[in-house]
Amino acid sequence: MIFILLGPPGAGKGTYSQKLIKKFNIPQISTGDILREAVKGKTELGMKAKDYMDKGLLVPDDVIIGIVEDRIKEPDCKNGFLLDGFPRTVEQADALEYILNKNKLKLEAVININVKNEILFKRLTGRRLCKKCGANFNIYTLPSQKEGICDRCGGELYQRDDDKPETIEKRLLVYTKQTAPLIEYYNKRNILKEIEASEGTIDDIVKKIEDILSGVN
Ligand code: AMP
Repeated sequence: MIFILLGPPGAGKGTYSQKLIKKFNIPQISTGDILREAVKGKTELGMKAKDYMDKGLLVPDDVIIGIVEDRIKEPDCKNGFLLDGFPRTVEQADALEYILNKNKLKLEAVININVKNEILFKRLTGRRLCKKCGANFNIYTLPSQKEGICDRCGGELYQRDDDKPETIEKRLLVYTKQTAPLIEYYNKRNILKEIEASEGTIDDIVKKIEDILSGVN
C-alpha cells in the first residue's frame, strides 16, 4: 500500500500517520521529520535546509526529491509506505510519478485532509513535540498528562521554531500557492479522496482514512 496524506500544515498528517503505519505495517516517510533530524544533527542537508524551514519556505525540490528517492529504496518500504509532507509542489509530484514508474510501484491513493483555517492556526500554535521520541501533543486539543513532559517516554516537550504565529502565516500561504495545486493534479488522475477533518476525534479521522484505504485495496 502506497499512499499520500495531503493537507495544509496543522491538518494532523503526522498524528494520523502514527496510527496508520501501525495498522498497515508500513513506514511513514515524513520529509519534515527527515529535515528536522538533519538540522538537529547539523549535517550538510540540515545546513542547506535550516534557513528555508525557519522562514516557512519550501526546501528546493532537487534536495527533497533526492531524499525521497533514496528513502523508498530502504528494505522497510518493501510493503509500501505512507508519504507525509511530500510531494509539496507539482515538480515533486512529477518526480514521484517518475520514480514510482521506474521502480514499478503504484500510488494507490491521495487523501486530502480538509481543515478550516482558524482551526489550523490553533492546532499549529498549540503543537508540542517530544525532543526524545518525536511524539506529538497539543496544549489545546491533545495535552500531555504532565505539562511539558512526554506521556510516552518522559522526554521534554518543545515548540517547533516554525510554529510561531508569523511563520505559520507564511507556511499557510506557501501551502495555498505551491501545494494546493496538487489537489487538482491528483483529482485529474482519479486518485484523490477527500476527507473533512475540522471536527471529530483523532480516532474518528483515522477511521475515515482507513475506510477509504480499504476501499482502494
Ligand atoms: P512539515 O513538518 O511537513 O510541516 O515540514 C516542515 C518544513 O520542512 C516545511 O515548512 C519546509 O520548509 C520543509 N519541508 C518539508 N517537506 C518538504 C517538501 N516536500 N518540500 C519542500 N520543503 C519541505
